[in-house]
Amino acid sequence: MINASLPELRRALDARQISSVELASLFLDRIDALNPALNAFITVDRDGALAAARAADERIAAGTAGALTGIPLAHKDVFCTEGVLTTCGSKMLSNFVSPYDAHVVSLLKAAGVVSLGKANMDEFAMGSSNESSYYGAVKNPWNTARVPGGSSGGSAAAVAARLAPIATGTDTGGSVRQPAAFCGITGIKPTYGLVSRYGMIAYASSLDQGGAFGASAEDCALLLSAMTGFDERDSTSLERPTEDYAAALAAPASAKPLEGLRIGLPREFFAEGMADDVRAAVEAALDQYRALGATTVEVSLPNAKLAIPAYYVIAPAECSSNLSRFDGVRYGHRAADYGDLADMYSKSRAEGFGAEVKRRILVGTYVLSHGYYDAYYLQAQRLRRLIAQDFQAALQQCDVIAGPTTPTTAWALGQMADDPVQMYLSDIYTIAVNLAGLPGLSHPAGFGTDGLPVGLQLIGDYFAEARLLNAAHRFQQVTDWHARRPATAA
Ligand code: GLN
Repeated sequence: MINASLPELRRALDARQISSVELASLFLDRIDALNPALNAFITVDRDGALAAARAADERIAAGTAGALTGIPLAHKDVFCTEGVLTTCGSKMLSNFVSPYDAHVVSLLKAAGVVSLGKANMDEFAMGSSNESSYYGAVKNPWNTARVPGGSSGGSAAAVAARLAPIATGTDTGGSVRQPAAFCGITGIKPTYGLVSRYGMIAYASSLDQGGAFGASAEDCALLLSAMTGFDERDSTSLERPTEDYAAALAAPASAKPLEGLRIGLPREFFAEGMADDVRAAVEAALDQYRALGATTVEVSLPNAKLAIPAYYVIAPAECSSNLSRFDGVRYGHRAADYGDLADMYSKSRAEGFGAEVKRRILVGTYVLSHGYYDAYYLQAQRLRRLIAQDFQAALQQCDVIAGPTTPTTAWALGQMADDPVQMYLSDIYTIAVNLAGLPGLSHPAGFGTDGLPVGLQLIGDYFAEARLLNAAHRFQQVTDWHARRPATAA
């Protein structure tokens, strides 16, 4: 049961082969057994999960269950959950029990999903390795001496180790796709504006987007369908009809189901920078796509190399503004001893934030300050526009863009902890997608020479989620990379 797909779990629940309470208990027991070694969860909500599972069982009995009713899930701890500790991986919020649910959390609750708890993450979603969490690093289930990726590393590790069948995440510069790649699972970041940011603790608001993790594209499609939808409480939420991404996968079988799909391969992604073993896995996966009927064409993203410098101006600028609300006054950490009000602010923030968060607040404050705004922030916004235009030009020549998700497989814990710039550079293939607001998906495509998973990234035009999920699903119907499991879940 722990390795069952969501459609298999649905059938088992509907056929009463297992109850939702039994299913939740199975995963909660696995969390008890395996989480001490992986540190994928910050909070395990056994009582809440069992109560939700009992309610789900009643709905199933009453014949009112939906696709996800009774299915267990892990929420990234960036999503506010009413009555449950919501830390965002930070000491600053280590005492914060949210008084309300994020929009995504309410949608999934209404669908009857059973939240098992809150997944570990880089502090305020800033990082690529999950080592910046106040709650300690998450370990990669494939090799516990390696990082799981970040910032949604707890969510990805939980799904890979089958501590939860599915999980939510957020992706500001790659935080769904990169940990999905490092942990050998599938993850999708939709078009900016498709998933409401209400109650999703803000890092860089013009880039932050909720996303879905699952073992397969099909599981991601089911979860994403339940997460999207207009929300007037998020001013950038898009008012458009929701799509059933899973139904869109049910195309008739054919030997060449991807006939007519043009895959663009950006010259810049396949130049130097990608490790040989990642390249070999990505090339082999592209051969498989060709065997399914797709054609490939070279495209160019000439400004993609500027994505990292642009992002590391824009994201810190937005974070310095967003994180100014954490001042120790209404909620969150407050220093025990202080003099006047200014001293209370400064001591609370000095104690509550970790080093990476402070570094970004300082950079952001600097690039927004008088005299530097034009030189840094405005320049970065211009680059952002050029990068978005590159994608639009490339997408004139192809239907989806493919390449590696990451330049290497997961690196060793501690390896980049003292070298933030090196860590920033590891996001070279994912960040441009957020700057353009496009959807991106990562799916397992093989293994590196170190035995760790390799991810292939698919990027689409705005609202091309169904196309990305469909391509990945067709690939997964004829390959088994997504079905491989680390030893603890085999
Ligand atoms: N790794 C990137 C960063 O450190 C992206 C993080 C994210 O997507 N939340 O900012």
